[in-house]
This record gives sequence, C-alpha cells and structure tokens, in this order.
Amino acid sequence: MATFRGHPTALVLPDLVAAGWYFDLMPACISCLDWGNDVLCSRCHGQLRPAVGMAVGGMCVVSAYTHESVARRLVHMFKYQGIRQAGVLLAKAMSATLPTDCNALVPVPRALVRRIRYGSDPAAQLARMVASEVGLPVVNGLRAQLWWPAHAGSNRLSRKAPVFGMAKEVPAGSVLIDDVLTTGATLAAAGAVHGIESALTATRAGIDRYG
Ligand SMILES: [Zn+2]
Repeated sequence: MATFRGHPTALVLPDLVAAGWYFDLMPACISCLDWGNDVLCSRCHGQLRPAVGMAVGGMCVVSAYTHESVARRLVHMFKYQGIRQAGVLLAKAMSATLPTDCNALVPVPRALVRRIRYGSDPAAQLARMVASEVGLPVVNGLRAQLWWPAHAGSNRLSRKAPVFGMAKEVPAGSVLIDDVLTTGATLAAAGAVHGIESALTATRAGIDRYG
C-alpha cells in the first residue's frame, strides 16, 4: 500500500493509520491529529474551500472542495491509504452539492491495475457513501480499461483520455461520481458512454483546459 508522505503520522504510525481503525479509537482530527477533536478539527475544517460548478466538455460538473490543503490530504488518505473516515467527510460534502434532479449515481471506475494495487475503487466507494446519505441507487454502468496514466492534481495541457465501456444501462438523470476533477477528460469520456450530462466530484484541481 502506498504511503501518504504528507501526513504527519507517516513517519511514526504508518501501519496504524493505514489500517484506518486508529481514528475510530482516538478522539483526534484525522488531518492534523490534534487531540480531543472531532474527526476534523475546526482549524482544518476552516481550510476547506468550496469549489464552484463548471462546464466540462458539455457536462455540468460540481465539486465539493478545491483540491488543496486539507481537502487534498483527505482525498489522498482515502484514495491511497484506505482511511474510510476521510471518505465519509468527502461524501457528506458531496451529498450537499448533489443536483436535486439526480435519479442515480454512476461511479467512474478506477483502472483495473490501480484497483488491484490499492485494493479499492474510490469513486465506487464515494458513490455508495453519497447514496446512503441521499437515498439514491448506485448503478455501475461503466467498465474501465486495464490501465491509464494517473493525473490527480495535474495541470498538464494535454493527456491521453481513458476509454470506458458500457457495463449496463443507466436511468435518465444519472450523475457521474468521481474523486478528483482535473482536466475533465476522464469525466467527458465517461459521460459520453451514456450521454450523462452531470457529474459530482469530491475535489476540483486546477483546470487549464476544459475537456
Ligand atoms: Zn485538524
């Protein structure tokens, strides 16, 4: 499992933190480990910046937070260390920004090689967490490639977009769910399979080219 080197516990408690149960037992902020706090202390919570919605490749994309500071840390903890509590925080924020006319949640699947390497599929997990918050179904309507280059947080002007296949039909009014919006190429490719016009992500990175 990858180690998130930016987290203050990475040097002293890597295994305990990676296991995730540390935060169930200890009353500490999961971002800065400040003792005696809720799952996220007020200081770290204050560093979360709401992201504005935007059009990406003909799709309306809403993100809970900008991909920086504490929000970026939460994504990494969830995505690469499997810390469930970080995902729960992100999913709650995503639920609050979900389009009101949404009928179903369609996760953008992680490449198979990455799913095996990290043992998880963050968008699928976030979709289930958001679904439990808002009472909507999750429809796994997309099939992923074996592999494509990672790019979370990248500002590169161009990159190779992944190709998705259709796993099953999705209902009208479905919303794509993903962890990070970067250039929008992944969401555009995923949305094109079913003609989905809305997407919701946990964070939005710097975008210099709309897919
Ligand atoms: Zn904190």
